[in-house]
Amino acid sequence: MNKIKENIKKIQLQIDQACQATDDTHNQESKVFSNNRQNHVTLLAVSKTKPASAVEQAYLAGQRNFGENYLQEAVEKIAHLSHLPELCWHFIGPIQSNKTKQIAKNFTWVHSVDRAKVAIRLNAHFTEYLSETRHSNYCQDTALNICLQVNISEEPSKSGIMASELFSLAEVVDNCDKLTLRGLMAIPEKNTGVASYEKMQHLFNKLQAQYPTVDTLSMGMSNDLSTAITHGSTMVRIGRAIFGERD
Ligand SMILES: *Cc1c(COP(=O)(O)O)cnc(C)c1O
Repeated sequence: MNKIKENIKKIQLQIDQACQATDDTHNQESKVFSNNRQNHVTLLAVSKTKPASAVEQAYLAGQRNFGENYLQEAVEKIAHLSHLPELCWHFIGPIQSNKTKQIAKNFTWVHSVDRAKVAIRLNAHFTEYLSETRHSNYCQDTALNICLQVNISEEPSKSGIMASELFSLAEVVDNCDKLTLRGLMAIPEKNTGVASYEKMQHLFNKLQAQYPTVDTLSMGMSNDLSTAITHGSTMVRIGRAIFGERD
């Protein structure tokens, strides 16, 4: 078995264990014992800086969702791998508004929306794109799936909207007819315990109560996957633990 396939299996096992632990806690709290898996966590393989051949290896191991940070690099890989029809691409990097056209054209999900201008432009470009192309891609949708990035640890240097402004941005996205508000994304600061994870879980629950399309909490990377899942993550973004250290 090749290394990438082996790593994906290991991560899937770690995800299952974290889900199981989370289920057990809930069952104890509610005094209901069931074997029903309440959680479903999607593995997003983060392939930034890695070649298309590595993505293809992961694909052959059954992996379908891939995350990219850098637009130019991503667009080349996406073109190169267009023969793999079930590939589903997620943009997870910081967004400059002049890049929204390319993002709308190439990606099915965008995790890093943190301001109204970007949302409105993505909506306009996706509308344009739909009218131009008859696409057959399995993973492409009639709307772009959007997560709002929250700067949950309030780090000045980091992307993401402040929690206090989140709900007005959610309203903007919800009002865009070619965007589907799917949830939230965060990169909690390391070494600050679980406070940021708890805050994200709370915000997510609140958003979900307000918008029926919300089903995704994109949180957890190679180093904090289990903590994130315990705090309600439904999608973990894993790079190094699948593809190895970045150069
Ligand atoms: C690079 C990156 C990841 C993956 O991080 P690893 O530590 O390699 O698992 C996840 N999310 C975002 C936003 C990233 O930029």
